[in-house]
Amino acid sequence: MFGYECNYKPFESELFELARQFYTQSGGRGFSAVQTVAFDGGGASDTITADGAEYVFSYSDAVPDDKTAARKILLRQRKISLYKALQDRLGVSLPWGALTGVRPVRLGYGLLSEGVPPGEIAAAMSEKYLVSADKARLVSRVIAAQSGCVRRGDGKTVDFYVHIPLCPTRCNYCSFVAVPIGRLQKYVEPYADALVREIAATAKTLADGGFSVASVYVGGGTPAALPPELLRRVLEAVPYKDVEFTCEAGRPDAVTDEKLKIMRGAGVNRVCVNPQTLNDATLRAIGRGHTAADFFAAYEKAYKLGFTVNTDLIAGLEGEDLAAFTRTLTAVRALNPHNITVHTLCNKRGSDIAANGQAFPDPNASDAAGAMVAFADGYLSDAKYVPYYLYRQKLAAGNLENVGYTLDGFRCVFNINAMEENLPVAACGAGGVSKKIIPSAHGVKIERFANVKDIKLYLEEFNKRLPLKQIFLSI
Ligand code: SF4
Repeated sequence: MFGYECNYKPFESELFELARQFYTQSGGRGFSAVQTVAFDGGGASDTITADGAEYVFSYSDAVPDDKTAARKILLRQRKISLYKALQDRLGVSLPWGALTGVRPVRLGYGLLSEGVPPGEIAAAMSEKYLVSADKARLVSRVIAAQSGCVRRGDGKTVDFYVHIPLCPTRCNYCSFVAVPIGRLQKYVEPYADALVREIAATAKTLADGGFSVASVYVGGGTPAALPPELLRRVLEAVPYKDVEFTCEAGRPDAVTDEKLKIMRGAGVNRVCVNPQTLNDATLRAIGRGHTAADFFAAYEKAYKLGFTVNTDLIAGLEGEDLAAFTRTLTAVRALNPHNITVHTLCNKRGSDIAANGQAFPDPNASDAAGAMVAFADGYLSDAKYVPYYLYRQKLAAGNLENVGYTLDGFRCVFNINAMEENLPVAACGAGGVSKKIIPSAHGVKIERFANVKDIKLYLEEFNKRLPLKQIFLSI
């Protein structure tokens, strides 16, 4: 294991996360690091003892009076110091350098707004945050692919989200509050009824406030886990039919011709059919409850019905090597889906794999996951896919990222907006989080209203919580 301590507590958890990334990146080599921060005379310094070696870094950058801006600068300094010390002591580099946040693309946009030319974003990311050349270029490519998307709205345009946290079974890596539908049978119909009411009430609040809707996303969970009639009622309740309308149909074992036709009839124009892997042994091991053949059948139905189709894959699944991942990716790509999203396995708290004692990603999996992600990027780029949105998650194998790739003309605008927090969100359903984006001295401030996650509690508190959300959205 590793140990990390810092005398400056406000930054300790973010710095701990950076140290943790070094631990997994170095194949689980144990180390201990102590960082002592000192502020004096307008400057700051770090003394870092890493496995007996001492490193000292001093900074004299001007620090603004504004607390938020000052925090950003001071934290970045501490991260750079720790990064350089551990990089030297352990002899490894991290793909995302000193970054620990989940939205690196946003930092690229920040550089653009500071006047860095688009062609120099990658170099500036590497210089300022020590990001590897490949990942810095990836940020720059994502920004280029997002060109023409609304960067910040007028405050009166929102995205509309509906959450259905039900699945056929629970995958062992899942950290969402997604419940196997069989366990909640008696709540399924009341939940669909409540959703229909919440969708109608939210749509009325938006109409009364003069809001327009840019895109709709019905996610989960596995929305297609709902029985056909309930799925129809929920989707038909959404009154926005001439916009990008995605239903994350999800697990191939829940996708049927009947449900796809219901989606089509309700105005859905994009679906996700997600295999994650096409290796049946892995699918069994991770509790997916479907086979590769189920995926091919579901995909074909969706494609034939004219949907824009996304397929999700995971790099770094237990027991899979680069050859297995390559087989999956090439077979999926041969189907020519409009979007392919490549996730990196995370074993976040709440998943069965984390509960089984794997507190961190397997340190030995870093190199394999890195090779898979690099292969995917090169292979998909050769096949004319471009990376168009990107985010990171804590505890991802190899400290890597999740990337959405698209063929030209098929970007999912909801995904871009969600990652970059471009537009407010009006969210319905258990666990749905509505967001307001408020201009502030530091760019924007995000305010959130979270619906109760547990379906039973959501139903119990429905009448009390819905008016509160309506007030949140209307002012
Ligand atoms: S399909 Fe997705 S949401 Fe459902 S259990 Fe699996 S990972 Fe979780």
